[in-house]
Amino acid sequence: MKIAVLPGDGIGTEIVAEAVKVLKALDLQFEMEEAPVGGAAYDAAGHPLPEATLNLAKQADAILFGAVGDWKYDKLDRPLRPEQAILGLRKHLGLFANFRPAICYEQLTHASSLKPELVAGLDILIIRELTGDIYFGQPRGRRVATDGHFPGAEEAFDTMRYSRPEIERIARVAFEAARKRHKRVTSVDKANVLETFQLWKDVVTEVHKDYPDIELDHMYVDNAAMQLVKEPKRFDVVVTGNMFGDILSDEASMLTGSIGMLPSASLNDKKQGLYEPSHGSAPDIAGKGVANPLATILSAAMMLRFSLNQPEAADRIEAAVKKVLAQGLRTPDIYSESTTKVGTREMGEAVVKALG
Ligand code: NAD
Repeated sequence: MKIAVLPGDGIGTEIVAEAVKVLKALDLQFEMEEAPVGGAAYDAAGHPLPEATLNLAKQADAILFGAVGDWKYDKLDRPLRPEQAILGLRKHLGLFANFRPAICYEQLTHASSLKPELVAGLDILIIRELTGDIYFGQPRGRRVATDGHFPGAEEAFDTMRYSRPEIERIARVAFEAARKRHKRVTSVDKANVLETFQLWKDVVTEVHKDYPDIELDHMYVDNAAMQLVKEPKRFDVVVTGNMFGDILSDEASMLTGSIGMLPSASLNDKKQGLYEPSHGSAPDIAGKGVANPLATILSAAMMLRFSLNQPEAADRIEAAVKKVLAQGLRTPDIYSESTTKVGTREMGEAVVKALG
């Protein structure tokens, strides 16, 4: 088993170092190899995703990724910006299924902007299709309008499209994931208005016939956005397209109130995956030793479960994280009165100790 370790920029290096410590403490047989990505790679090799980094990622069974980006790269041409590294990895590895769990830990219910009783025990998995939809559909561009409300005016256009196989494969991922959870899938669409999402709904309904043990319901995206803040615990697995998933997964992550806690995974059809925290490189706190490493440590747990076939080791990490929270240890982002404030390194070391 080989893990490509790509720490990236900002707090990426600090939080990935802690996740690597936790992985090493498990005493499993895997090889880890590190390479620069994002702004760090641009500085070292003139490109956010150098050939050598991409090759390492392709050969690995899984990629542990920190975060990329810093305001200082904002003036670069778009293809050279750090964020392009993630898009490049998704494209080259065919990472079409994005898993974003939104879990509200018992000890952190106060951190949510919703009432504690609405989020206590929250455990939702949002599965977002990552390689299709309006973000990648062609044609797209700018032109002079020849029809519509303002002929002759400048206009811009994008194309929303999904093919049957693209919908089928993400639907299967969702039903399979639900089998390991509470066996409920909510498919989110806008079939009342969009042809693309009528096909989405039809195909998800057809694929569901192969999963009679799973309960399926369909929900329009506007209602889903509303239900996520009204009654979030009604959801188990939510599956949706790229754009709706982008928005809903961020909304769901905020229900937990603590961006530093949320892992994510992006998988291809060979179960090769990229595992990263849901947050960015946080340049405002980089180098201060205060970043919360738990999202990255929990991403490493997802990596063990989904790509490296080590579910027991994943359970051990998740239990250790719960244990350090129960001990009252908190990085500043999740700190509250009567808990103990710790830095990035102390938090990582506490998780190692709690592995038992
Ligand atoms: P961000 O997620 O980096 O930070 C948002 C806020 O959350 C900041 O106040 C930050 O201090 C805090 N925060 C984030 N992670 C934290 C952690 N682990 N512990 C404690 N606090 C944490 O988002 P941003 O500030 O909008 O973006 C900063 C840079 O990150 C930009 O260059 C952006 O493009 C990039 N970005 C990268 C990714 C990625 O690598 N996948 C994702 C989002 C943003």
